[in-house]
Amino acid sequence: MPQQKLCAISVDLDPVAAYYHIHGLGDPPKHVRHTIMRRVLPRFGELFEAAGVPATMFVVGRTLERLPEAQVALRELARAGHEIANHTYSHPYDLCRLPENVIAQEIGKAHDVVTQLIGEEHAPVGFRSPGYFINGRVLQALTGAGYRYDSSMFPSPPYWAAKVAVMGGMALRGRRSASVLTDPRGLTAPLDPYRPHYKRPWTRGDAPLVELPVTVLPHTRVPVIGTLFAAGPKWLQRYALDAVRKLHFFNFELHGIDLADAVDDSIPTELAGRQPDLRIPFVEKRRTFLDTIRTLKRDFRFVTLAEAATILEAEV
Ligand SMILES: [Zn+2]
Repeated sequence: MPQQKLCAISVDLDPVAAYYHIHGLGDPPKHVRHTIMRRVLPRFGELFEAAGVPATMFVVGRTLERLPEAQVALRELARAGHEIANHTYSHPYDLCRLPENVIAQEIGKAHDVVTQLIGEEHAPVGFRSPGYFINGRVLQALTGAGYRYDSSMFPSPPYWAAKVAVMGGMALRGRRSASVLTDPRGLTAPLDPYRPHYKRPWTRGDAPLVELPVTVLPHTRVPVIGTLFAAGPKWLQRYALDAVRKLHFFNFELHGIDLADAVDDSIPTELAGRQPDLRIPFVEKRRTFLDTIRTLKRDFRFVTLAEAATILEAEV
């Protein structure tokens, strides 16, 4: 058991295109293609600075290419003590189904793009899969690349059920989501950090890295992620905060889109209509996140996921 309770905030910097594809809308218009890296990433830098906490940014390698302002922003974040981690090169939702060599490329190419940008001393040591699950092939690629942790498991049956319902509804309307249903075996993964099994990473084993599952509440398995604080009801936010205070480790997952703003960022109604959180002004969401982090600071020491992995590794 850690001496002090730890909280690690991470941000998955999924491009707007990922949401267009999830909702079966095809490719996004040009003007929003780089919105997350160009406009939203600096907002996170400012939020974490105001809150005085370190964070982990999960970067999709491809989104950095030919985007000088995002490269500068990321370099500044690394210099400010934030961790830059690997979220694949092209964000394939079906990563686990790809052949071994393609999996290795997705991880390796993102690793190289980030490392070239921020330097060997800040090279990624952590990974999050686009599909909230890793199988033996992905784990093998990660250990082969010398990664110290994975943070992909998300053992939340309520989230899974909601996704089934949404994808089912889309299929009925003849639209296809690019999102692949998370492998249900991931729902049985431990809720606390653990050392994964080589072939079945959703179970305990003796792999040389540590799995840091995204936090879901014990018993109800309600996910305590950014969306809840960006757009969820206040009573549920209070309930969730009260419940996470009892945990020893809170792996708090946010997404780039949590600080995006349909009006301010000119995000078309075709997407904003399907993502209610986009219709809330980002200044309002920023305030809620700042208040939430300040509340959490009373109970938790904030660390990057890499730091959490180092501390928790000794206990798993
Ligand atoms: Zn993602």
